[in-house]
Amino acid sequence: MSERKAEHVVVIGAGIVGACSALELLRDGHQVTMIEPGEPGGRQAASYGHGCWISPASVVPMSMPGLWKHVPGYLLNPHGPLIIRWKHIVRLLPWLTRFLLAGATLTRVERTAEALATILKDSPERHMALAESIGQPDLIRREGLLYAYPNRSAFATEKLAWHLRRLTGLVWRELDEASLKAREPALSPHYRFGVLTEAGAHCTDPGRYVSSLVSEAVNQGARLVKAKAIGFRLNGDRLQSVKTDRGDIPCDRTVIAAGVWAKTLARQLGDRIPLESERGYHGVINVPVGGPAHPVMPSDGKMANTPTAKGLRLSGQVELATVDTPPNWKRVDILLDHARKTYSGVELTQDIAIDRWMGHRPSTPDGLPVIGKASGSKDVIYAFGHGHVGFATGPITGRLAADLVSDKPPERDLEPFSPRRF
Ligand SMILES: Cc1cc2nc3c(=O)[nH]c(=O)nc-3n(C[C@H](O)[C@H](O)[C@H](O)COP(=O)(O)OP(=O)(O)OC[C@H]3O[C@@H](n4cnc5c(N)ncnc54)[C@H](O)[C@@H]3O)c2cc1C
Repeated sequence: MSERKAEHVVVIGAGIVGACSALELLRDGHQVTMIEPGEPGGRQAASYGHGCWISPASVVPMSMPGLWKHVPGYLLNPHGPLIIRWKHIVRLLPWLTRFLLAGATLTRVERTAEALATILKDSPERHMALAESIGQPDLIRREGLLYAYPNRSAFATEKLAWHLRRLTGLVWRELDEASLKAREPALSPHYRFGVLTEAGAHCTDPGRYVSSLVSEAVNQGARLVKAKAIGFRLNGDRLQSVKTDRGDIPCDRTVIAAGVWAKTLARQLGDRIPLESERGYHGVINVPVGGPAHPVMPSDGKMANTPTAKGLRLSGQVELATVDTPPNWKRVDILLDHARKTYSGVELTQDIAIDRWMGHRPSTPDGLPVIGKASGSKDVIYAFGHGHVGFATGPITGRLAADLVSDKPPERDLEPFSPRRF
């Protein structure tokens, strides 16, 4: 039990971060209400559609030295892995400027990688323990994560990324052509060099995972309310209640775990967080027997191909546009086209996509999440902005949010994730 008395805590959002926060709060003896307008684990959440990777290697930020040189190309190439929709460019300029500056020097990206490593390093173990605790250990598989390259020279072009991974203590195994073929026979002969990060794990059904975690929280006594948080009732700096579209919910504390939608809530508490959607896509395809069996990131596709309970999930693409801009399904075709090259010996055609999805990575320009107390009230805890790594880091973020609620010294240094760093 925490040092403080048990309190009533409202968790806003039931994606992976909200679900893990609720479970950790219950573990500390608090009374928990979760509010979520959609289905927990449903398609509206990034936690439904991501690439399924739980990877301590994900410490490499998107913004790296020299990226600015490629921005004009990104604007012009509709088939690249990163696209900025023209009509949003003016609105996005402040975020983009910060994004490019965050990766401008080696020192900055090293600092980012080191901060990310603190929350990623034990992510596979935390997920395995969590899946085990809800009686569904099959949801998390730890069989390593593979990066496939056409050759060693292509690997060498990513020297800085692998430098950052080494800096954070990651260990990996290099695979020559024969070992690569043995590991994933379905890969096209175009790939002749591989890197296997054996510590990595993946999830086989993210939607079921999140909904099961929320059901577990409900079984342990949490209340799930289908509503949308719209604001806060404060008395001075003390929280009285969370306002929702279905009425107020009186409470002592709240954890904002609403992914990309957290921005407007934080604004009401005096924090202007530069949070934008890095929209991403996935396509799911059936694969024949003997087809791809392991998670792979082909270096020339910048995408994660992961076997799941529903088929092979091809996920990736970064599209900078507003949350409500309609999806551009051509971006899924890009993923499908690349998969046909990646597995050229396997019969894959475009029309076998059994699911297409678009969702929102909740992204800050420096690639780090926001975990800390709101400026306007110490009773409000932020747990959002995890960008590309929020699924992997969900369990530790839940723990850190619960530590903040209970005013315990947090398990990790939260300075790099401060809401006031912008
Ligand atoms: C294509 C793609 C690939 C990715 N691949 C990976 C990967 O391989 N590994 C990895 O670790 N991460 C990956 N990510 C990132 C990861 O998916 C996210 O960082 C993570 O899921 C964010 O979780 P969350 O709980 O913060 O937000 P979400 O999952 O978006 O959940 C937020 C929830 O809050 C609810 N909500 C919104 N507004 C309100 C409100 N006002 N009141 C109450 N509830 C509200 C929403 O309905 C939603 O259910 C990927 C993302 C994408 C898009």
